[in-house]
Amino acid sequence: LPWQEDVSQVLEGVPGDIMEKVRILADKAKGMGYPIYLVGGFVRDILLGRRNEDVDLVVEGDAVPLLESLAREGLDVSIHRRYGTGTITFSDGRKVDLATARREFYEYPVAQPTVSMDSLKHDLYRRDFTVNAMAVCLSPQWGLLVDYFGGRADLKRGQLRVLHNLSFVEDPTRIFRGVRLEGRLGLRMSQDTERLAISAVRGGLLNLLSGPKLRSEVELIFLEKDFVWDVERLRELGAWDAVFPGVPVGASGVKALRKLSMFRRRLGKDLPDFGRDVWLAFLGGLLYFGSPWGARGAVDRLSLSPREREVVEKILGDLGAVESAIGAKGEMRWSVICKELERFGRLVVFAWSGLTDKWRVRRRMLLYLTRLSKVLPMLTGRDLIDLGVPRGPMVGALLDALRLARMDGEVETLEDERAWVLKRLVEA
Ligand code: ATP
Repeated sequence: LPWQEDVSQVLEGVPGDIMEKVRILADKAKGMGYPIYLVGGFVRDILLGRRNEDVDLVVEGDAVPLLESLAREGLDVSIHRRYGTGTITFSDGRKVDLATARREFYEYPVAQPTVSMDSLKHDLYRRDFTVNAMAVCLSPQWGLLVDYFGGRADLKRGQLRVLHNLSFVEDPTRIFRGVRLEGRLGLRMSQDTERLAISAVRGGLLNLLSGPKLRSEVELIFLEKDFVWDVERLRELGAWDAVFPGVPVGASGVKALRKLSMFRRRLGKDLPDFGRDVWLAFLGGLLYFGSPWGARGAVDRLSLSPREREVVEKILGDLGAVESAIGAKGEMRWSVICKELERFGRLVVFAWSGLTDKWRVRRRMLLYLTRLSKVLPMLTGRDLIDLGVPRGPMVGALLDALRLARMDGEVETLEDERAWVLKRLVEA
């Protein structure tokens, strides 16, 4: 028998708008006689008292008839018959995933004519870590924690443990997943698990990952809030040496990433919103101290798109030239700083702000990012034409010159801008 424990109290603590949906689905499954469970990261997080929006449910039997029945009742359901899974989207936009308990992680359907009661156990066994391999039964027995592999005890001890010795061999992405969980949840791999991770890395298993798969793992690492921790942890495990040979990830790279992380924390909303692309700046920062062939190899290895490649290659480009262009002592016109920097794009400048060790350059880069890059004239192209500027390239050129004039404080009000344009017109 697995370790079982009543955790219905814990379910009480889950926000009502989430539980309301879980109850609807649990009732439905109960009515149809299917055992149904909460599983995976959701269970882990509610036991930790952390909010998690991604509800994963598993039924023993077949999720498809259950999903079909929900669809007939008017719910928005998408069904993947081949995998025996589906997603229910509720009217408030919240989504819940529903799957059939299955034996293999990657294949479905499995030749398994009779549904045995061990299907949940098998479903949990194919997962990555014990803390992710727990289930909470909703029906037949509401609130019963089903914990075959000691996940609860591991959580309490702050320990991350794989379910079996071949786990990282089966799927080396679990090394990255493990590091993210350690960093985010303050867990630590058990000695055995760490040893298995290190030997998987040394054995070259990360080389077996496809470019897109590796890219997605690296991207997720850099999108973690405290990604610098993860980067250092991966260094400890030898993962960077394995995936990016020729790029020694050392103190300088980590220092640059620390700075970028700090700028982001301190400057917050004043920095441009880079969206998901921000990871490219961190990647560039990491690769910057590698040999040129090493960095190029890394970019190839990750199968970046041409646009992403261009960003990283620019970061690896000539920072020295830019440092001389905007590093002069004394006052420097803001429009000059802006013009020097804007041709590289804001993400590249952001990466450089962490990489340069010249304080004046860094300050000017941050000034560009937080202020200069946002300056726009008040007048529009339409307004310029109304003021008598002939249609054509002159409109754009004047708008741009006006933007720079505003940056240098030559114009402030709308009136100033009009007068400025009229003056240029007279001169022309
Ligand atoms: P997050 O909070 O990052 O979403 P999560 O644990 O919910 O974390 P998902 O990627 O949504 O992560 O995966 C859901 C569940 O599927 C996990 O909890 C884990 O049990 C299982 N899982 C995901 N990826 C793997 C994998 N590569 N190998 C084994 N199990 C996995």
